[in-house]
Amino acid sequence: MKSIKSVFKIGNGPSSSHTVGPHNAAKLFGERYPDADAYRVTLFGSLAYTGEGHCTGKAIQSGLPGAEICYNREMKEEDLPHPNTMLFEALSDGRVIGSDWIFSIGGGSIRIQNEESDEEREVYPQKNLSQMLHFCEERGLSLAQFIYRFEDPYLRVYLKTVWDAMQDAVRRGLAAEGILPGGLGVTRKAKLLYEKRCYNESPDVTMNRVIAAYAYAVSEENADENIVVTSPTCGACGVLPAVMYYMQNDRGFPEDEILDALAVAGLIGNVIRTNASISGAECGCQAEIGSACSMTAAALASLNGLNIDQIEYAAEIAMEHNLGLTCDPVNGLVQIPCIERNAVAAMRAISAVNLSRFLYANRKISFDEVVETMYRTGKDMNEKYRETSHGGLAQIYYSV
Ligand code: SF4
Repeated sequence: MKSIKSVFKIGNGPSSSHTVGPHNAAKLFGERYPDADAYRVTLFGSLAYTGEGHCTGKAIQSGLPGAEICYNREMKEEDLPHPNTMLFEALSDGRVIGSDWIFSIGGGSIRIQNEESDEEREVYPQKNLSQMLHFCEERGLSLAQFIYRFEDPYLRVYLKTVWDAMQDAVRRGLAAEGILPGGLGVTRKAKLLYEKRCYNESPDVTMNRVIAAYAYAVSEENADENIVVTSPTCGACGVLPAVMYYMQNDRGFPEDEILDALAVAGLIGNVIRTNASISGAECGCQAEIGSACSMTAAALASLNGLNIDQIEYAAEIAMEHNLGLTCDPVNGLVQIPCIERNAVAAMRAISAVNLSRFLYANRKISFDEVVETMYRTGKDMNEKYRETSHGGLAQIYYSV
């Protein structure tokens, strides 16, 4: 299994597979063919359907600043090597001097056909979470200790950079107001939610309201094409920072412990990415929000000192009750249902930890089993519900 670093990528929203991945692909392709006088990019599948709403063209242009680029869109889904496929061609005097098929495989990661990238380096010998837990139990390791044992010594430095970027996104989002871009007329709500305390509000209601405000803040920053951290994707980037920010800012947990919790979240996201998918275009929103919810539940359980069985169970519950969740962004924008969904998933992660604390001893379904279930469900899902904006809320919105 690869490094957990690739789960957390810092980049511009609104969609890791439609902006961060294509941006990285364009940058890499430009470095390969710096002498081209123009580039042609053909977008296939989900990138062709929702690339416009997800600002894919802008992301590619920012990876090839100043370059002349023409775009083609091919809607066909069948026979594609990946639902998010791009063909990059370098042109000189109208002739193709080089080309690459590049796949945006989710969470901002890319894969070039027939090539292995640095990101592909194997870091963990274990294949799934069960094997990792077994390794920890035999040696008396916590999950964070397990991670530091296999990752490079600079992982914590990287996690600190990630955490700083997450906090910046929360703070910027809480301060911002106005209408989000794209034409839907969606108003930013984070600031309102944060400041709108009800009369006689109970501590539980306050906690949920504040965490939801943090999730809105980050997700609205994402929708506004600002810098966020994939966790594991841009569309689901508000869940983990919301809960971790609350735990540090409102509950006083030290930063060192937050970084350990982020490492645990990264491990869960990494297992899902490796054995299933974190891409809405491949497996629907269960792969994005379900994964974020699962990562957050594991992080919170770890932060609260729960044992590794409880952490596994929290992650399992959080994924299990997002199974079947479709991806149907209205107008192809990462706004409805995405922003609200981040807030709901943050609260759901807390409930998963509360259940796992008491019920872990009698659990019947393992985390690895639910990950496999999510993948199979995603593969069975009608293509309309896999980030094409042709089904669900997206379809209803167009037809009313
Ligand atoms: S519905 Fe879910 S998977 Fe689809 S774009 Fe929104 S957050 Fe991502």
